[in-house]
Amino acid sequence: MPSCIVCHLNIDENTDSHYACDNDHPVHKYCLTEWLMHSHNCPLCSDPYPQSLIVQFKDYMEKKEQEKQVALDKELQKESQIKMQEVANKIVFLKFIDKMEQQIEEEKYNEVIEKLLDQYNESSVDDGNLNILFLLGKANFLKGRYDLAINFLFKLVKIRFNYPDGFLYLGKAYEKLGLKDKAQWAFDRIKEGK
Ligand SMILES: [Zn+2]
Ligand SMILES: [Zn+2]
Repeated sequence: MPSCIVCHLNIDENTDSHYACDNDHPVHKYCLTEWLMHSHNCPLCSDPYPQSLIVQFKDYMEKKEQEKQVALDKELQKESQIKMQEVANKIVFLKFIDKMEQQIEEEKYNEVIEKLLDQYNESSVDDGNLNILFLLGKANFLKGRYDLAINFLFKLVKIRFNYPDGFLYLGKAYEKLGLKDKAQWAFDRIKEGK
């Protein structure tokens, strides 16, 4: 029993549809169908398959091509949807940060801190989360909770050394607690970060 040069399984000449190149290299019909998507030459001897044979598979190959295109389009659509969602999320987040900054200006510290803590993610180190950490530090500082401010701001600058405003409020909080050396240390980091 001959075996197919694509899948290497036997070809039952009575039941399996099959073809061969001019050098008589046998191949299952369904294997050849897949193969013709890649090449019009025999995978074994590289001789071109006769045009008459390729024509038989033309419709199928066109259909496959179309399916591939549809799948690709869907993939692209999904990708752009995800991107748009990301942009939308970013805008929502920036609006949130704006609002928090505005409420800090309005001295609504407790309200701001509560909302920031809702959004704060202990395990994330992305820019948004660092922004939240900074505002938590700033709001606590302005509220007079210097210990908590130091807590948040220290967490922040440990993740992102280059955060001058973080060091600024950290220094101010140390200063308020009379920790002059530590305050100086923080203020010195501002210059380094810049
Ligand atoms: Zn096969
Ligand atoms: Zn061949």
